[in-house]
Amino acid sequence: MTTVLPDENAQPSWELAPAPESTDHVNLKPAYDLFINGEFRPSRSGKRFPSINPATESTIAEITEADESDVDVAVKAARAAHENVWSKMPGAERAKYIYRIARLMQEQARELAVIETMDGGKPIRESRDIDIPLAAAHFFYYAGWADKLNYAFPNRRPESLGVAGQVIPWNFPLLMAAWKIAPALATGNTVVIKPAETTSLTAMKLAEIFQQAELPPGVVNIVTGHSEVGAAIVNHPDVKKVAFTGSTEVGKIIQRSLAGTDKSLTLELGGKAANIVFEDGAIDQAVEGIINGIYFNQGHVCCAGSRLLVQESIHDELIRKLKHRMESLIVGDPLDKNTDIGAINSREQLNTINSYIQIGKDEGAQFYQPSCPVPDKGFWCRPSLFTDVAQSNRIGQEEIFGPVLTAQTFRTVAEAIQKANNTQYGLSAGVWTDKGSKIFNLTSQMRAGIVWANTYNKFDPTSPFGGYKESGFGREGGLHGLAAYLKV
Ligand code: NAD
Repeated sequence: MTTVLPDENAQPSWELAPAPESTDHVNLKPAYDLFINGEFRPSRSGKRFPSINPATESTIAEITEADESDVDVAVKAARAAHENVWSKMPGAERAKYIYRIARLMQEQARELAVIETMDGGKPIRESRDIDIPLAAAHFFYYAGWADKLNYAFPNRRPESLGVAGQVIPWNFPLLMAAWKIAPALATGNTVVIKPAETTSLTAMKLAEIFQQAELPPGVVNIVTGHSEVGAAIVNHPDVKKVAFTGSTEVGKIIQRSLAGTDKSLTLELGGKAANIVFEDGAIDQAVEGIINGIYFNQGHVCCAGSRLLVQESIHDELIRKLKHRMESLIVGDPLDKNTDIGAINSREQLNTINSYIQIGKDEGAQFYQPSCPVPDKGFWCRPSLFTDVAQSNRIGQEEIFGPVLTAQTFRTVAEAIQKANNTQYGLSAGVWTDKGSKIFNLTSQMRAGIVWANTYNKFDPTSPFGGYKESGFGREGGLHGLAAYLKV
């Protein structure tokens, strides 16, 4: 892979030898059944669909399309497991299973990371160093709470809700499964979960881990398929808690369908985060934070810093440095350890991203992409930047969910806050300044669930995560994440 830096920087071009992660140790079946009541079983539908490697367009394995009757069997299994086993088990015993799951995930981390990268397109560096370790960390963290619920909610009598129906997206497949399953199990609930249709494989490997951990049958059930399967879970009368992560559009459909029922609901939806750089911030550090904020996981990140707000006085310098840094990003084989930006998750998502790039050009914003090569086969998008973006432009308002950054300027703190808040979303934000007082001022005035200061995209299981406005409601992670699964 050759990377050429712009002439003005007078740095030589340099080459990195390929460093592909081996796939020898990966053990995948050609086809996966549903995981219901502790065992793999075929769907009554008899239908399957391929899970595709977005970097090669080849089929990795066949996934089962569940139907409504499969969902019903899974929910019944979960209900029986809740009533007869899991809710009655002392918290300290539940914790042992959850710890065991975490340990098994650690032991199989390398295989899980490679599968996550093959199935979803994200760079191996990210699945190896972020997705899988964080997923295991969530199980460890919530295992610790399982026997301490009375201390978490003193003077209340926390009780599990029953069967939790959970639906997750494709951007962090195993991590989102961990965010959902770990707190549900710690609090004594049982689970029926549906992974996203393009990224079901690590969920099926997790099912194997549940078997190895000898998790009692029915405690977690995994049903695969498309939107109809998600809808069947959400609307099943025996599901008492619905936890959804995905688009705001689908979140609204689910909220409408649950209106008037007694189901608890948490929604983790889309975002369009402002990443705000002040003239007193450390510019080079901010450039790294901007790159990480928008190009991490190809920009398939709900909390991505997709709207750059730069103080006018440093705009030209910062954009020059940003473009220079973008030139050095390596786009390509997700299994190569040097890769910075992997494959776009699906052809459909690539089409969405490309249509937004066209919209941005038509809206009159200035478009920039570095000259890096991309492979012929697979779904690719170079890191992209729009400058001269107006507040009303669609590319600055709508979630693109790809490696596309928009840049705007501001002059005063008040203007930065006003622009940052001027969106339907409110999931996250970033601020770069060396003034602590400015950070506190901004964090208290921004309608965003998370605000990172002088860093970006830092996650920890102890820290609650969730949105304001159309980014959803409810929190996952930390003590707050327990409350969502309990009657207190
Ligand atoms: P999506 O809403 O299209 O799909 C998410 C999941 O919902 C998938 O499993 C899908 O099969 C299922 N689904 C689709 N229609 C459904 C319906 N009517 N009823 C029930 N389930 C249904 O979203 P996506 O494209 O997979 O994911 C990207 C979106 O997820 C982005 O908007 C992103 O911001 C959001 N996201 C949010 C967070 C967060 O924590 N706030 C985290 C990750 C992703």
